[in-house]
Amino acid sequence: MRRACLVAALSGALALGSAPAAPVVAAAGFTTSMEVFEPGGTIHRAMVTRPAGDRAAARIARPAQVIPIETNGPSDTTFDLVVVGDGYTAGEMSTFSGHVRAAVDALFSVEPYKSYRKQFNIWQVDVVSPQSGITNDPTQGVQRNTALGSYFWCGGIERLLCTDETKANQYAAAAPDVDQVLVLANSTKYGGAGGGVATASGGNGQSTQIVEHELGHSIGGLADEYDYGDCDPAEPTKPNASALTADRMRARQAKWYRYLGRPSPDGGTVGAYQGSRYCRTGMYRPSQNSIMRTLGQPFNPPSTDAMIAGFYREAPNRAPHRQVG
Ligand SMILES: [Zn+2]
Repeated sequence: MRRACLVAALSGALALGSAPAAPVVAAAGFTTSMEVFEPGGTIHRAMVTRPAGDRAAARIARPAQVIPIETNGPSDTTFDLVVVGDGYTAGEMSTFSGHVRAAVDALFSVEPYKSYRKQFNIWQVDVVSPQSGITNDPTQGVQRNTALGSYFWCGGIERLLCTDETKANQYAAAAPDVDQVLVLANSTKYGGAGGGVATASGGNGQSTQIVEHELGHSIGGLADEYDYGDCDPAEPTKPNASALTADRMRARQAKWYRYLGRPSPDGGTVGAYQGSRYCRTGMYRPSQNSIMRTLGQPFNPPSTDAMIAGFYREAPNRAPHRQVG
């Protein structure tokens, strides 16, 4: 759905794809806040210093082949998930295909993705790397020459998998449209990262749950519900985080007051649970646990409906009229 601006921005780079690489210019790194996903599903944010090369104006070596994995509609009414591979050699494209299919299967095994599968187009971008594997895998110091230069131990955090986001976007632009880029790295080591370019280990089933969480942000406009990070106590516009207690929500008929007391698929009931959106106190979430707090958990009811509303925004005439949870 963002085709116009994204392709316009990137087509020039693609057209120049066979030009020699730009000269390496020494540049300062940059510091950015990133989501870190722990084994077991816990999520938090960390300030990470990364090399300038992770978002340099690098040019990709050559356009990549795009394979439609699933096409359900025109891109202006469908969410286009573009999966780009890194660390797969020419002889390992079938491995990459297997990792893509496993990630897609995992995504559509959970609600509301399962019921709204027809809202997605899935594109696989075959990028050939000179070497197999990922830098700093299995241990720190291991170097691999890969197309996107993905690496573990980003910012000194073992499981944080960073990539050259400029190159990832350039490769992804070979797809007809791009709403979310997922870089799958050829590794079985648990890890990944969130953001406009999400990353995950292609050979690690739990890592691909990261995309379920990231699409919560990009489709549902959802807040993170974990409580570690920089707290802003102001009332957020997000549908699943509030500075209001349950009593105040009811009194003001605000936020998810209509859902209070309903069962939540995590096993509890919808309420206002303290600790959300990087705040330990003074900020509330709708359920004890959810995927916006811990990977492997379900979306809670207010978030599920925000996701469904997001699907309707994409395709108001095509979405099935169904409420999940
Ligand atoms: Zn998040």
